[in-house]
Order: sequence, then structure tokens, then C-alpha cells
Amino acid sequence: MDDRSTVSEQEAATLLGELVSYDSQNPPGDEAACAEFIYRWLTDAGIDAELVADPYPDRPQVRATIGDGDTERDHLVLNGHIDVVPPGNLERWSVDPFEGVVDADEGRVYGRGASDMKAGVAAAMLAAREVAADGVDGRLTLTFAMGEETAEPGTKTLVENLEADAGIVLEPTELEVQTVGKGLAWYVATISGDAGHASKPHAGANAVDGLFALEESLRAYRERIAERTHPLVGESLCTPTVLEGGTKENVLAEEVEIRFDRRFLPDESPSEIDAEMDDLFEIVRERGFDVTVERTRTYEAAEIPIDATIAETVRDHASTVADAPTDPAGKSAATDQRNLVNDADIPTIIWGPGTPTQAHTADEWAETAYLVDAIEVLCRTIDDRCNA
Ligand SMILES: [Zn+2]
Repeated sequence: MDDRSTVSEQEAATLLGELVSYDSQNPPGDEAACAEFIYRWLTDAGIDAELVADPYPDRPQVRATIGDGDTERDHLVLNGHIDVVPPGNLERWSVDPFEGVVDADEGRVYGRGASDMKAGVAAAMLAAREVAADGVDGRLTLTFAMGEETAEPGTKTLVENLEADAGIVLEPTELEVQTVGKGLAWYVATISGDAGHASKPHAGANAVDGLFALEESLRAYRERIAERTHPLVGESLCTPTVLEGGTKENVLAEEVEIRFDRRFLPDESPSEIDAEMDDLFEIVRERGFDVTVERTRTYEAAEIPIDATIAETVRDHASTVADAPTDPAGKSAATDQRNLVNDADIPTIIWGPGTPTQAHTADEWAETAYLVDAIEVLCRTIDDRCNA
């Protein structure tokens, strides 16, 4: 089959480099300049686009629509986030993370967000331009969100009133179709004791002793939830990641804080997990300490059937165009798939041109070969689902 897309590797790499050159770090949430660039680019390509001032007026998002919505054909939603995580220690980078360096010999574009997930955004923009030239019989909606990296209601706001038949969240998968995304919750627990002089430890209540009382219940809980497994995303996890507390060597600790990263499966609910996390600290409370447990961030898990139509269509084209793997797969990290599937009831896969192991690393790069193939696969998918 001839290529449907006319986009060259050079053109795709140039656009990706340009997207990377807009520093859209989050936190603090500097997506606006990048959003405005995408909006202008789509408008210049003759696509009906808008800047969306919800939910935060100073952090605009982009939505664009092609097609008059012939209901016999599908309405497909392409989604990408335009925020990127901060670059971290710049000494670990050999390039400027926000220059958008294109290395044509290597076939890579370097910079923060290249794989996660401006390659996906570039693929959606260029595929939309390609199909817009001939029009779309059903409808294609592009949604480019802010705040994904900090669990803000960016994609949720863009999609919640959409009536659509299918969606693709263009996170890095090297063109592998993923039908399930693991959930993520963060917790902070604070153990409070009574300060006192460390020469008389029995006169106070040392919050560090309270923390040590947790050890056994935490170990048992981690073993118990590791038995909850999903064939595509593995086991449920509760990992303590941050400890803070105490005042001074000779002062009994008034307060100790412990934070957890809790990865969960589609059949576990955040409210059930809240209760489990609270129960963990029962033993600490029994020893006389006050404990508060709070969930500070949540990305729900999401899942659609392995053989959903959008999954089958993209799998077929990705294997034909790029010899991409066709086995069922899922993502062990959380994505905005949850907003399309859980909040808007749109069957949605996770699939995109970035390289997942590059996400959030120093010297992050994306391969332009995957990018060009992604554009071709998207064009064919749009023809299949949205055109007569
Ligand atoms: Zn991402």
C-alpha cells in the first residue's frame, strides 16, 4: 500500500524540535506559550482550533475539530499533554533540554518532553493536517491538555462533554497498543508524639518509635496486595518513598511523616485503598500516637477490552506500517486514558511514537522513524474509522 501521509522525516523532526523548544515545565505549569504555538499552527493549517481557558485561564489548552460529524462514521479523539516534567540537574544533560536539538544522522530529536509526549502531539498535528486536506466524514477531535504530570483536570475538562466513539492517548509506547493503564495514588501519613528530653525517653512519646511500630503491618500489607495482579500491568504496589521528621538528636521526635506511592489495578478503588492505608496505622495508634493519613494525588486506573475496535484497528495498521508488536499490553504508569474512559465513556487506547524508557530521563530523545510511522498509522486509522 502506498503511504497515505506525505510527511517527511525531516518535517516531522522539525515540528517536534519546535514543540520541545517551548519550555512547558510543570510544575510550575508553563504550558501557555506551547499551547498558543499549537493553536496558531493548526489555524494556519486551515483546521478549526480554539484555545480553551478552562479550568485555568492562565494555562490555556487546545481543542480542534475536523469533519461535520456524519453519524454513520466514527468520532475519534486524539489526546496529548503539552506539559513536561522539569529537566532536573542540568549537569546530567549534554544538550539544552529546551533547544529542541534535531540529530538527523541519528534520527533523533533531543530534549525534555521529546518522547513524553511531544512526539505524540506532533504526530496528531501532522496526521490531522494530512487528513484535513480531503476532509473527514465523521469527526476528528484533537485535545492537547495542560497539567497531566500533576494530575490536574486538563484532559478531563477537554473531553467530558464529548460524545465520541473512540480515543487514542498518545503517550510513548513505541507504537504498541495498550488497553489498560495502572492507577496511582500518593499518600502522606503523619505520626504525632510528644516532645521530651532524649535523656528521659519514657516521659514522652517518640514519633520515631511510632514509625518503627509500622514495619510489620506495612510488610504484611505489601505482601498481601502483591497477590492482586493483572495480566497486562502486573501487581498492586505500596512503596514508601519519603521520610521526614524529628527535631534534633537529643529531642524526642514530635512528628514523623511518611509518604507512599501506591500503584493500583482497575478493580481496586481509591476509596477502598484509603481505608486500607488508614488501617495500616492501627498498630501505631494502639501505641498511643495520633496518626493522620491523607491521599494527596490520584490518577484512577482505566481499562477497555483487549479486542475493542480502536485497539484492533490501530494494532493492524501499526503492525503493517511499522511491524509493531501485536500482543495485548498495558501501561504500568498512569495516564489521561482514565479521563476518556472513566469520565467521558470513550473507549480509548494508549499508543504513541515516543520511547517509554526515555520519559523523565536526562538527555531524553525520541526517534523520528517512530514519529513518521505514527503519522501514517493515524492517517490510516482515521480513514478506516471516520471516512466513508
Ligand atoms: Zn506523559
